[in-house]
Amino acid sequence: MTTAKAKKAQQLIHPDRDNRFSSEDNPFEAMMLRFDDAARRLKLEPGLYKVLRAPEKQLIVSIPIMRDNGEIEVFTGFRVQHNTSRGPAKGGIRFDMAVSIDEVKALAAWMTWKCAVVNLPFGGGKGGVICDPSTMSMAELERLTRRYTAAIIDIIGPDQDVPAPDVNTNERVMAWIMDTYSMHKRHTVTAVVTGKPIDMGGSQGRRDATGRGCLVVTMRALQRKKMKVQGATVAVQGFGNVGATAARLMAEVGMKIVAVSDKSGAIHNPKGIDIAKAEQFIKAHTFLEGFPGAKPISNEELLALPVDVLVPAALENVITSKNAAKIRAKIICEGANGPTTAQADAILDAKGIYVIPDILANAGGVTVSYFEWVQDRGGYFWDEKTVNERLEKIMITSFDEVSEMSVKHKVSMRIGAYMLSIQRVAAMHRLRGLYA
Ligand code: NAD
Repeated sequence: MTTAKAKKAQQLIHPDRDNRFSSEDNPFEAMMLRFDDAARRLKLEPGLYKVLRAPEKQLIVSIPIMRDNGEIEVFTGFRVQHNTSRGPAKGGIRFDMAVSIDEVKALAAWMTWKCAVVNLPFGGGKGGVICDPSTMSMAELERLTRRYTAAIIDIIGPDQDVPAPDVNTNERVMAWIMDTYSMHKRHTVTAVVTGKPIDMGGSQGRRDATGRGCLVVTMRALQRKKMKVQGATVAVQGFGNVGATAARLMAEVGMKIVAVSDKSGAIHNPKGIDIAKAEQFIKAHTFLEGFPGAKPISNEELLALPVDVLVPAALENVITSKNAAKIRAKIICEGANGPTTAQADAILDAKGIYVIPDILANAGGVTVSYFEWVQDRGGYFWDEKTVNERLEKIMITSFDEVSEMSVKHKVSMRIGAYMLSIQRVAAMHRLRGLYA
């Protein structure tokens, strides 16, 4: 980090924080830099600052399972509840070799701010197991999931902590968690997890929810910038659940998707790419590589295209201090979690690029997870139209509230989003007081 940048970052640090610095791409640091900036602007009381930084509960469990060959192996799993002042902890469970307690703590805090920015009655949580699911059979994964669920059963539940899918976990894994929990409780408890199959209490509209949320906030941003939706050009990085859905829904409202990408690289056509055909192509060929009617380009080139809207919807840390100056999009809608580093924020701000921050832009997923939990608890299920209408209402209201905060305090949409969510969580803490 240059001296000037280090000085700027230092100014953002709250006085009560220990000043440990690490690299630009550390997600916990990235989140804490924004948290500190927002907390300082809100003049958050030092005591409350300390409370909001610390996770409420961290559980580390050993998970012994029998492999298919009869050998016993012991895995390590985590569940962290960062803050439950506003309601049950909410957040995914990931199965990955890169899982660590620090990462889970950071992601749990991230969920606290995301749930608060869209005003859901949830706190933030996250879980994970250190494992490589690609080397495990379905039966081994089931045993791992069920034993992990049994190990964390005392701290999860519809009123306590509601897990969901994350990296390498899916509807199938959620179904096993729900069944294991229900067998222990001796009755069916669908609301213990979200992201379940529709046949067992999942919600209509959940699969498209994150991409749909991206569409809603992007349309709002275009309106704010007095830009037309019809013909607005879009580049989307990542063609999975979030990216492909956002691209499809944006194309449906008349936006022109000129570039999309996945792990295999990017494709570009200034006249527009047929997203339905690209989705069909992926079904047949797994990757976009070789898609006819578009020119192959690199993912770096995609990020630098002169488009109206750029949707990074693949990975974290793709817009950094190294490439932010090259970005030519007018609006960035962060479909992925943490695609922009704190250092890149300053560069994008200086260029006047309008960034819809991740904790707002991709909150459509957790919003429909909330709807799933509400439907399970009420035992009454909504049709997809109702889900989509309610999602749209929440995304529009949240966008406008963040925008208002950013205008009032003359800060970016990102810092506005953090200020709004910290304010909401802090208000709950002040009302509840400190139990002693
Ligand atoms: P996914 O696995 O369905 O899709 C990821 C896509 O990114 C794939 O097309 C993959 O090929 C592509 N990709 C991987 N590496 C790439 C690279 N180096 N360059 C370009 N593309 C690359 O995942 P997803 O569910 O769509 O999630 C994407 C991001 O959105 C993640 O950051 C995730 O945390 C975030 N997110 C997802 C949801 C959700 O509901 N799925 C909700 C909130 C946030």
